[in-house]
Amino acid sequence: MNFDDIKNNDKQYYMNTFGDRLPAAFEKGEGLKLFAKDGTVYHDFLAGIAVNALGHSHPAFISALKNQLDKIIHTSSLYYIENQTALAMRIVKASCADKVFFANSGAEANEGAFKLAKKYFFNKGEDKYEIITLDKSFHGRTLATVAATGQEKYQKPYRPLTPGFIQVAPNDFEAVENAVTDKTAAVMIELVQGESGVHPMDVEYVRKLRKLCDEKDIILIFDEVQTGMGRCGEMFCYQAYGTEPDIFTLAKALGCGIPIGAVCAKDFVASAFSPGDHGTTFGGNPFSSAAGLAVFDIYEKENILENVKQVSAYFVGRLGELMKKYPGKITDIRNAGLLIGVEFDEKLAKTVFNALFENKILTSLCGGTTVRIAPPLIIKNEDADLFANTLDKILAKI
Ligand SMILES: *Cc1c(COP(=O)(O)O)cnc(C)c1O
Repeated sequence: MNFDDIKNNDKQYYMNTFGDRLPAAFEKGEGLKLFAKDGTVYHDFLAGIAVNALGHSHPAFISALKNQLDKIIHTSSLYYIENQTALAMRIVKASCADKVFFANSGAEANEGAFKLAKKYFFNKGEDKYEIITLDKSFHGRTLATVAATGQEKYQKPYRPLTPGFIQVAPNDFEAVENAVTDKTAAVMIELVQGESGVHPMDVEYVRKLRKLCDEKDIILIFDEVQTGMGRCGEMFCYQAYGTEPDIFTLAKALGCGIPIGAVCAKDFVASAFSPGDHGTTFGGNPFSSAAGLAVFDIYEKENILENVKQVSAYFVGRLGELMKKYPGKITDIRNAGLLIGVEFDEKLAKTVFNALFENKILTSLCGGTTVRIAPPLIIKNEDADLFANTLDKILAKI
């Protein structure tokens, strides 16, 4: 199929949930680069929405996947799975979690977290089922995660929603305090709200939430689907906050493109699941957990976390220079590691986003006025320069 065939067939055969996509289809990738069918080279500063942390076609990653493909892909959870066990161990050793359960996506990991929190109180014979989440959050597209997601546009077509989810304003401790009832089972937040435009929560706010949850016997859940796996400079973003959750969820970069998600929990809550309470066909099969294991290995070998800290500081510095050079055009820069949001004047955001794309630089527009940069975590300062120099040229013209 040439590009027009792909486009037309997509319109005819694929459900129209993505509408008119950006006019590109990629055939090959290498590091930060993506190659379209006609050979056009793009620079991927979005990494498949914070997924391809190792960039494209990372040799050691590909070799680990091929190696696993030659052995076995799937066996079912009826049997012990060495890679699954090993990956769970890796996550536990690197985090505050004592136990892990694997799913296939972020939404599914979050569903697992809701079930676990509810089961914890069910076991205790307590009638606690309400889950407090935040406005402008994003937790996934399944029915329960849509109910958890504080964005009207995602909820509207699906009313009545799964009951028990309550949204309050982000970064507002009193709002949570006021929403807590004797039915509150859990509070779930993203430490940095990604989809709504890269909005980090305050350290003090998160610390207060922890204290409130401890006092009221409420499960604190961090959705680290986007912020986890080194994106924000620590393996898990909560480590930069110095506040531990009871449960956190992972997905996006955990398999660097091979679908795998995880529910990670402390023992007191993890032990609420008994045999039969939860399950999955694909979750953490030998292939996807081999991907996760390879990701952990390569992060260690290549010092990825150090790289994120160093390059993100440089990148944000370069963007800061542009904000000074073009006051009123760039209105804010927010980041946690290599999750960077550049906020533009309302009238300019879309134009800048489109101009970046025309210059073969991939980003995403989120929250209406924010260009989100979530590049592979292997990028170097010179890649940040490429981005900043291109943006400089664009801003000079508009
Ligand atoms: C992407 C994302 C999800 C949903 O993950 P899927 O794999 O698309 O189900 C959930 N939470 C956050 C914070 C995300 O960024």
